[in-house]
Amino acid sequence: MHTSRADLKHGQSLEYIHYGGGLLCINWEANLKVGRVYPNKIALLKTISLAAITGHFRLRTVQSAKRRLCVRCWQLPCPWKVRAYKVGLHEFKVVIYDPLHECDLRYVSSHHPQATTELLSDCVKWRFQDSSSIYTAADIKKDVKQNFGVSISYSTAWRSRELAFKRIRGSAEESYSLLPSYCYELEHTNPGTLTYIETDAADHFSYFFMAIGACIQGFKSSMRPVIAVDGTHLKCKYKGVLFVATAFDGNRNIYPVAFGIGDLETDAA
Ligand SMILES: [Zn+2]
Repeated sequence: MHTSRADLKHGQSLEYIHYGGGLLCINWEANLKVGRVYPNKIALLKTISLAAITGHFRLRTVQSAKRRLCVRCWQLPCPWKVRAYKVGLHEFKVVIYDPLHECDLRYVSSHHPQATTELLSDCVKWRFQDSSSIYTAADIKKDVKQNFGVSISYSTAWRSRELAFKRIRGSAEESYSLLPSYCYELEHTNPGTLTYIETDAADHFSYFFMAIGACIQGFKSSMRPVIAVDGTHLKCKYKGVLFVATAFDGNRNIYPVAFGIGDLETDAA
């Protein structure tokens, strides 16, 4: 996706590129144009790297300074070249782009040095915006091979997935640290709600319990007086078990009453 704005300093329209799309974009070289402005040097380098991966050639950084960037094809004297200058606070503008290769691209192996964890995580992170989306490391490995034509190791695919996951949804540690605030808001906005967090001596998370006020009220007024407790194992970094206490209504439909997180079904939780 591209947008434009007037460049007052240079008296011309600057075309911006928004980095993204990743594995779905087939021709990244088409995104390299003279006059195009990138939000920063990293965004430009990522686009150049994606162009190199899809074009099956390696890169050589000739100059990478605070205000200048020059990248060439690895094989000399191939003329493929991108030169860019800083034009704003962070923005870089492509001033020279020679898209023609005179090298033999067949010498490039199927493993590409520019297919890094950092780059691939940017390419796949949109997959995790939907919390119900399931996109495994094996999927990343397959898609990179299919769309880029290069092979990556399973560990690279796994680290890319972990980094993308962290960038979109935050780390597990950050999520657990937000739990007290979440409980406060839950009780504040849902009258009758009960929450409880058990921590160990080092103030680390042990157990969690939550029952929404409306669920408690509904159970007391309309449900059969029987509660069933079941649990499912969590497969995130810190494992644990998610417990749910359910009741039945008059039509034998399941009615959730309370949720909890503990270590194991047989332990103190
Ligand atoms: Zn070349």
